[in-house]
Amino acid sequence: MTSPSYIGRFAPSPSGPLHAGSLVAAMASYLDARAHDGKWLLRIEDIDEARTAPGATDAIMQCLGAFGMRWDGGATFQSRRKALYREALERLGAHAYACGCSRREIADSRLGIARDGAAVYPGTCRQGLAPGRTARAIRMRTPDAGSPDDCIRFEDRWVGPVTQYLALQVGDFVLKRADGFWAYQMAVVVDDADQGVTHVVRGADLLDSTGRQIYLQRMLHLTTPRYMHVPVVSSASGEKLSKQTGAQALDPLRAEPALIAAASFLGISVRQVNSVDDFWRQAIAAWRNRFVEGRPG
Ligand code: GLU
Repeated sequence: MTSPSYIGRFAPSPSGPLHAGSLVAAMASYLDARAHDGKWLLRIEDIDEARTAPGATDAIMQCLGAFGMRWDGGATFQSRRKALYREALERLGAHAYACGCSRREIADSRLGIARDGAAVYPGTCRQGLAPGRTARAIRMRTPDAGSPDDCIRFEDRWVGPVTQYLALQVGDFVLKRADGFWAYQMAVVVDDADQGVTHVVRGADLLDSTGRQIYLQRMLHLTTPRYMHVPVVSSASGEKLSKQTGAQALDPLRAEPALIAAASFLGISVRQVNSVDDFWRQAIAAWRNRFVEGRPG
């Protein structure tokens, strides 16, 4: 029986097949949903069409199937939901503005670098485009430094209390990119709300994005889900494991050892398993025991 009070999701970008790092994120969201008797949705985040690898969506779906992770309902695709993002932008009204700055100009302003590596926007186009400049991107106007709305606080279910000051640590962020694609922050906020997602469980590399997402939810009058950011697997050189850092694609024929290793990374110990289904029975019970029973949310 599924509880309407819990809707979770796994939201991979189809830039390549699943690897040991993406398996950890998929597993944590799946375990949390099943341990809550909730729903687990699959959303393919193919909004950045330039980074979408041919065949990656099919490979991801096949791998999830082989690894015993069954999603509820049909998968959704961000590339088919652009009308929703357009409508949200309209609702933002004057909170959003056109920006004509190039990446170079923003980097040259040296206002600072946000934790995710993007340069903090110096606010050049906040009061309107200077004569002769053309709009490139659309940005979200963040609150003035020191104003009460500027400080975003939330309680992460893994990390604990998190505080972010938007003006100084992030700056006015992009909603629609200069290449015409919708930005991840916009698409994810609209989709999580539209799909009724109540619990977001994902990798800690996205912790820094959560302040922006909560701010957008507030400006769009949307409910903020509960967040849990689980540790990310690193490559030998200490970077997040990804296709770029040499991650191997998971082998759908060798699910059990990969599942056991991912669970152990999350602190869930499952030793002897007879089958993939047996693995999930044990892992869900262990996750429920650790994160659900007797704990709020
Ligand atoms: N599409 C993002 C990624 O693959 C995840 C987005 C999310 O979980 O919010 O890194």
